[in-house]
Amino acid sequence: MRTQRQVVDYALQRRALLAEVYAGRVGVTEVCDASPYLLRAAKFHGEPTSVSCPVCRKETLTKVSWVYGDELKHAAGSARAADELQKMATMFEEFSVYVVEVCRTCSWNHLVQSYVLGTPGIRGRRQGRRTAVE
Ligand SMILES: [Zn+2]
Repeated sequence: MRTQRQVVDYALQRRALLAEVYAGRVGVTEVCDASPYLLRAAKFHGEPTSVSCPVCRKETLTKVSWVYGDELKHAAGSARAADELQKMATMFEEFSVYVVEVCRTCSWNHLVQSYVLGTPGIRGRRQGRRTAVE
C-alpha cells in the first residue's frame, strides 16, 4: 500500500512464540485461542495467504486487518478488507492498522504487522472547503 508508514513487523515475536510452542513450553490451546469475533472477521473480511498454518499445517492462514484511531469514531476496532483500507487512507489523516493472521481450522492467531495509514492534512483541506462554502 503506497501510504503505509511506521511499519512494525512482528515476525521475530511470532518465531519466538512458535519456538516455545514446538518445544512444548507453551500449550497449543494458549496460542490457538482466536475468538469467535476474530474467526468471523477472517471469514468475511480476511485475505487468504499462501502461508500454511504453523501449528496445525492443515490450512493456509487468513490475514485480518483491524483499524484503530480517534478519527474513525464508530469504525475503530473493526476489521477491514484491503480495498476498504485504500479508500479509508484517502478519507482520514491517520489511523493504525493491525494485521493479524488466523487459522480458521485450529484458531492459531498472531499479530503480523502494524502500520499507519492516512493522508496528512486532508482534514484541514476539508475544513477549508467547508469554510469557503459557509
Ligand atoms: Zn491451524
